[in-house]
Amino acid sequence: MEHLPIFLAMRGKWAAVIGGGLAAARRAELLLRAGAHVTVFAPSFSDEFTDVAEAFAFERIARWPHKPAELEGVAVCIVATDDSAQDERSHGIAKEAKALVNVATRPELCDFVLPSIVDRSPLVVAISTGGASPILGRMLKARLEATIPASYGRLADFVRDSRAKVNAVLADMTGRRRFWERTLEGPIGEMVLAGDEARAVQALAAEIDHATSGESGERLGEVYLVGAGPGDPDLLTFRALRLMQKADVVLYDRLVDPAIVNLARREAERIYVGKRPKDHPVPQEEISALLVRLAREGKRVLRLKGGDPFVFGRGGEEIEKLAENRIPFQVCPGVTAAIGCSAYSGIPLTHRDHAQACVFVTAHSKHGPVDLDWATVIRPDQTVAVYMGLNHIEELMAAFVAHGASPDLPAAIVDNGTRSNQRVVIGTLADLAAKARAADLRGPTIVIVGTVVRLREKLDWHWRPQGAEGSNEEQA
Ligand code: SAH
Repeated sequence: MEHLPIFLAMRGKWAAVIGGGLAAARRAELLLRAGAHVTVFAPSFSDEFTDVAEAFAFERIARWPHKPAELEGVAVCIVATDDSAQDERSHGIAKEAKALVNVATRPELCDFVLPSIVDRSPLVVAISTGGASPILGRMLKARLEATIPASYGRLADFVRDSRAKVNAVLADMTGRRRFWERTLEGPIGEMVLAGDEARAVQALAAEIDHATSGESGERLGEVYLVGAGPGDPDLLTFRALRLMQKADVVLYDRLVDPAIVNLARREAERIYVGKRPKDHPVPQEEISALLVRLAREGKRVLRLKGGDPFVFGRGGEEIEKLAENRIPFQVCPGVTAAIGCSAYSGIPLTHRDHAQACVFVTAHSKHGPVDLDWATVIRPDQTVAVYMGLNHIEELMAAFVAHGASPDLPAAIVDNGTRSNQRVVIGTLADLAAKARAADLRGPTIVIVGTVVRLREKLDWHWRPQGAEGSNEEQA
């Protein structure tokens, strides 16, 4: 090991920064965030110092330090002057003043290194490569940034604030450890991560009662209703991935790509609850009942939905039952199909020259196909994205025209949007249906109606999925 990893308590201590540029400003900010009193020496200060000064109070001395006495009592001194002779002089003075010194980009003059950090205060991860490769350190940092939820610090705060309460009632160390593992991994941890500390505090009190009553009674599980996006696994959110990694059971349907289902924890049980338009293998009520039953068994149940759970996804109906049965649940949004199809087909849904509004409609309602409030759907400067439109594409296109839209209005159909087999058919209200049938599209599809469709010609080169040249296109 090249260095001893330690976290230095700087609150209320004095630190000096020598240098007035960007690097010095960043380091001053770091020291200030750690609670140090900071004095900065430099003949002039860059704009970055103005930004730092907006958030923190610190002292500026507009010259270089001349003698060790000026740094007497400084615990830590960071030098970053962008001038190697000045760096060395400053280093000498700071050493004589008995400070711990770090000189930027001069490892041979450093008593300590500044690691790359992932800051989820109070939780902080520090990474050092012992000077071997700061770039590697930064790459690792990027990975950790992606996997540690932004709200992880709240979890640390929560434990700190409730530790005394738990310690008072759970004397045994192993018991405490198990208690915290269970609590942080379970619904209470999720409540905190989701920002609902008030509910978490109540639930923790109940959990403490439970732990001290000696009952080994059943534990309540929880349900995660998670949007899996339209297909490309890269469109999952960090939160979705994290919940997928925690689940004991996964319920998924036809619209969720197998590549995404495979990202769930390997040991998780998988239950297919797919629906097809005309044969409903698992009715909605049964899915809801299943969610309740599995959660009652103490399981972490992941309900994966295509796109976003609350956009034409019946997510609302599924959680109604959970709420009635007081099962803890959370809803994690996903990229809805219209948004995914728009980006991956090069058809912006709004554009200053074309559309100031966009509506999402479904061609399939409780009252049958294509039952829409046409006066609000067909408006100038508005894009319409239609879900579930393929089965009744002829009726749908005809209905637009019958309700006043021009037959020449551009329209597109995006089939299997964001997936490697995505296909896009471009036409007008008059001919899109025939073209879609000729292309033998199988769905799922999004139909986009509006003049924004014309923009695809300009933007297309960029959006064609790699390796799909030619096959992606059935141009008008
Ligand atoms: N909750 C989902 C929508 C479910 S309704 C969401 O937010 O996307 C099912 C409809 O979504 C399909 O009939 C189709 O219209 C659309 N859809 C889902 N995935 C799609 C995809 N990859 N490409 C195109 N349309 C898709």
